[in-house]
Amino acid sequence: MSQKILILGVNGFIGNSLAWNILTTKDWEIFGMDMATNKLTHCLGHERFHFFEGDITINREWIEYHLKKCDVVIPLVAIATPALYVSDPIRVFELDFEANMEIVRKCVKYKKRLVFPSTSEIYGMSMDKEFDEYTTNFVLGPIPKQRWIYACIKQLLDRVIYAYGVKDNLDYTLFRPFNFIGPKLDDINEPKEGSSRVVTQFIHNIINGLPIKLVDGGEQKRSFTFIDDGVDCLVRIIENKDKAASRRIFNIGNPYMNYSIKEVAQMILDLLKEYEEYRDVAGKIQLINVDSREYYGEAYQDIAHRVPSIKEAEKHLGWKPTTDLRTALKLTLDYHLRNKNYELNKMQTR
Ligand code: UDP
Repeated sequence: MSQKILILGVNGFIGNSLAWNILTTKDWEIFGMDMATNKLTHCLGHERFHFFEGDITINREWIEYHLKKCDVVIPLVAIATPALYVSDPIRVFELDFEANMEIVRKCVKYKKRLVFPSTSEIYGMSMDKEFDEYTTNFVLGPIPKQRWIYACIKQLLDRVIYAYGVKDNLDYTLFRPFNFIGPKLDDINEPKEGSSRVVTQFIHNIINGLPIKLVDGGEQKRSFTFIDDGVDCLVRIIENKDKAASRRIFNIGNPYMNYSIKEVAQMILDLLKEYEEYRDVAGKIQLINVDSREYYGEAYQDIAHRVPSIKEAEKHLGWKPTTDLRTALKLTLDYHLRNKNYELNKMQTR
């Protein structure tokens, strides 16, 4: 069934990839807003892609008008970078919570389907071996550990959205990305340390001949998820065959891609041997240990492991991730170091 989809933050890492997947595999129409278009060059000009350059905290009328016209609303505007939870928690609250609450309320008012990003951060330091959407408790640190503001905001949004589902029949799906990685995650040229997520930061350091910093030794693990796998799951959620995704919560993660930060650093260095022009510099890169207080400040606290249970997504959406870490990192490196045409790189790798 053809649908009209409103994507706020469509130029983001998830947004642009989702838009492209929809335009190339479905007949749905997309109305997208963002402050920039640098990741959208492939989508702009497509007959089913309608873009508006704007800010969700300013262009409220545009949002309301298009929200009323669309079937599904996907608000992806948020700060999701740990360094910023620590350095600017109020901005995180204003954007991630306050600005998004307005969108949630409009979905309730106009009875629109809401597909909303929760986060794997929400499980915090839970000791469960696998995080389950319906049974795992959330374990967040004390208030001065400002890192947790993001997890706490997302938790409250999840609870508010859930409550609107119960009280007003809001048709929602909450999804929780687990460390999505891929070509367009962050800008590898961004020089400011901590402004990128870990994979981009490591690539940036290596190609600039800087040491790789392993925060607190790098033994902490993450279940990395390749963006294409994550977006495949999101498209199934939007499709919502037989209402399988309605009023449900889904972890979107890859439990088979669970690696320590140190292992990721080593795999990137290994892969770089295949790129002639970076072989020498990669061979000289040192791995150094850095105390998290020095790297992020006192308000940081880390998560030792974060593995999703994906039983819900398998059962209701028939989804399973298929990309391994080596392929995910290779495609990311190819994009940054060889060819910005990701579709072409993909055809050559697979
Ligand atoms: N990290 C690191 N060195 C860096 C950047 C990050 O060791 O230069 C660590 C960070 O402390 C965390 C992990 O890598 O344990 C993942 O960090 P990221 O910012 O990608 O996201 P998170 O999973 O913490 O939300």
